[in-house]
Parts: sequence; C-alpha cells; structure tokens
Amino acid sequence: MTENRIPEVLLFSAGLDSYPAWHYLGRPPGLYFDLGHRYASQERAAIAALSDAAGIEVEISDELRLGAWEAGDAIIPLRNVHLAMLAANRAEMVWCIGVKGDHTLDKSREAFADMGRFIARFSQQPTRVDSPFWDMTKTEIIAWYLAQNLPVEHLLLTFSCSRTDGSTVHCGRCPSCLRRWTSLVNNGVEAEFEQQPWTWDRVQEFYIPAMREGRYPDHRAHEFFAALATIGAAVAS
Ligand SMILES: [Zn+2]
Repeated sequence: MTENRIPEVLLFSAGLDSYPAWHYLGRPPGLYFDLGHRYASQERAAIAALSDAAGIEVEISDELRLGAWEAGDAIIPLRNVHLAMLAANRAEMVWCIGVKGDHTLDKSREAFADMGRFIARFSQQPTRVDSPFWDMTKTEIIAWYLAQNLPVEHLLLTFSCSRTDGSTVHCGRCPSCLRRWTSLVNNGVEAEFEQQPWTWDRVQEFYIPAMREGRYPDHRAHEFFAALATIGAAVAS
C-alpha cells in the first residue's frame, strides 16, 4: 500500500490538451515526468511559464528516464502505462489526457480502463485512469476554454510541437503543430508558428487526400477543412 495517496492527479505536459484539462477538472495537482525525451526542455519551459501565469502546481519528476526508448517518430513504447503506474503511487484517480479520436495502443478509453484495472489488481489499491475529453475534439476543448473567459495568452504558453532542436517556437512543420493550428484557427485564435502550418508540403501531398479519402475520422477531416477554409487556402480538387 502507498501511504498518503491524494484523491487525484493530472499528468500534465503543458500541451494544448492538458492545460485546458487542468481547468476543466477543477485545477487538480499536476504531475510531469521528464523522461529525458527530445522535447522535454521545451515542455519544462512551458510548465514554468504556466506555473507563473496561471498558478498551476506541477510536481516535476525525473524518476522515469524512458528517453532511451524513444523511436524516430518520438513514440515511446508503453509510455502511458509507465506514467500511469507511477502516478497511481500518488493518487487513486489518474487523469491522462486523450481526446476524441485518439486511438494509439496506450491512449484510448479502453486502454486507460485496462490500465486502471491492471494497476488496481497488482497494487491492491483502487485505481482509475481516465481522460475527461473522450467525447471532445481539440477544437471543442479550446471552444470550452474560451467560453469560460479564460485568458488566451495562457493558452498560447502551452507547447505542442515535436521539434527536437530545443527551440520553444512552434515549427509549423509537424503533425502536432498542424493539429494545434487547426484547433486554434477554428476558434479564431492566432498563434505564432515559425512557418505557417497550412503551407507545409505534407498538407497538400498527404493530409488533404487522406482526409478526403476517409482515412481519418470524419470530425478530424471536418475540422481540418474548416480551418483551411478560414485562411482561404487552395483546397479545390
Ligand atoms: Zn511543430
């Protein structure tokens, strides 16, 4: 048994999902694992900025150095399983943020339910792992945040980019930046990018055909084309 467990903890990465989640969940304590992965320094800078600006309290832990397992595409096998196990030493309810349409092996409603059962069984302590956002898209999460009259400036302090050179400016040339841009532009929020995400070659060469052909969930395609329409990008076939 783990002594002094708290009721809940939010795995906080200072991203565009976990920061609104902190508000949505009523400002629970945050927990960040610096895994020694390639963009940890930018995430830590964003956490520090959000702590100053919004008052979020985040425990920074370096007890889990998984960076050595990071693949070329930045995927760390079983990442969320590792995070959930150590978070469950601290709290019964572990909030780990996934959003509508997420379906990686260790990030889905079913995966999190399995993790909660697994940890509860082997720790002999009640444990739940869940996200509050399974029925909300990123665009809807931002819309919720803005509807609470929470500051746009704080939202822009979040970091959600997979660049690995240490810069804290969003590159505009990675899938994370494209999703960030889509959800912000659909809510009328202008954000800084080193290069505009909609001008990325992959948009024309991959995303537009893939979205048209139904290789993404309908809501993703809908929001993607809505974002492109707002800047009048040439998406005609
Ligand atoms: Zn990026």
